[in-house]
Amino acid sequence: MDFKEADKYLFQNYGRFPYAFEKGEGCYIYDENGKKYLDMLSGIAVNCLGYNHPKLSEAICDQAKKIIHISNLFYIKPQVEVAKILVENSCGDKVFFCNSGAESNEAAIKLVRRYFYDKSLNKYEIVSFEGGFHGRTLGALAATAQPKYHEGFQPLPEGFKYAKYNNIQSVKNLINEKTAAIFIELIQGEGGVNPADKEFVKELFSICKENNILFCVDEVQTGIGRTGKLFAYQHYDIEPDIITLAKGLGGGVPIGAVIAKEEIAKSFIPGTHASTFGGNYLATVSAKVVLQEVLSEGFLDKVRENGDYLKERLKEFGFNVKGLGLIVGMDLPENINAKDVVVKALENGLIIGTAGKNTLRFVPPLIIDKKDIDLAIEILKNIIMGR
Ligand SMILES: *Cc1c(COP(=O)(O)O)cnc(C)c1O
Repeated sequence: MDFKEADKYLFQNYGRFPYAFEKGEGCYIYDENGKKYLDMLSGIAVNCLGYNHPKLSEAICDQAKKIIHISNLFYIKPQVEVAKILVENSCGDKVFFCNSGAESNEAAIKLVRRYFYDKSLNKYEIVSFEGGFHGRTLGALAATAQPKYHEGFQPLPEGFKYAKYNNIQSVKNLINEKTAAIFIELIQGEGGVNPADKEFVKELFSICKENNILFCVDEVQTGIGRTGKLFAYQHYDIEPDIITLAKGLGGGVPIGAVIAKEEIAKSFIPGTHASTFGGNYLATVSAKVVLQEVLSEGFLDKVRENGDYLKERLKEFGFNVKGLGLIVGMDLPENINAKDVVVKALENGLIIGTAGKNTLRFVPPLIIDKKDIDLAIEILKNIIMGR
């Protein structure tokens, strides 16, 4: 791969590392020269079944030979099957499909507004949290309370307010009769792998119930087994009104989804919202395999077990380690730059990510085992201790 040529023809909106990969197997991926890397980032929390998963690859190949896409003017069988699995394993009643995380949040924002419009209530304000991330489209961006992502894109849609994460008083200060919904990540992914406190979430949920405010959980990163349960909200004693999904859902094939209670979902009557590609054959056949695997006997137990093991091993560095299941962050002290560690790790055959200010992010395929984790720790020890 000629990286110069790549930069000539591609938008330069990404800070790309000079690597290109060719094939993968399980948690490992190979570059063009055949060099092997352990992938602890999985396409940013996407490739939950790893690479070349036999069932996923086969299902995609089989489907590609039949129909890839047909549009929602017709019924799509695997779409119904995936919706059924999501509903039967969540507190929601109905599912809308789209193609990405931003789109799922965009749909959720529209759904919230339309729901209160249908009730003839002047409620449209959405409260989200500092350090959160909900996507790059204008609505999702307005819900993303991080100034660096807003710069140069004003005016953003109106009706968004930002509270402090894990600070119930700051939420109370912002809500009023116009407040329609709270949007929250139960573990802030991009923001630095910050888990929400149990007590905070419980109080937030009761405030929503008392004030006719919808509780919307952005599970784009935390959903589909990432935290050791199918959804992160299941670690908390709450039932969200709306759940948004994407990343892990298709195991690498683009797909997003919104799960909502019946009462809310019914506001999207024909003509109100749509997506041409949303829930197409290829995407939903993939999601079906992913869900069947993640929900298979013992799978989530292993995610929890290996997640605990990863955290335990990372604690050997003596830094702050946080997260749940296989979304784990390690805060680095100021004298160690997270990006430098990522670059050195790549040189040494390990793919990891960064998040927040100076945090290393680990979101490996959910099929990772202890031996892979040991290898990652060994490589990191050489980099961090051997500086
Ligand atoms: C990645 C992410 C998004 C945006 O998803 P895209 O598919 O990139 O649009 C939204 N919310 C959360 C929590 C995410 O981690």
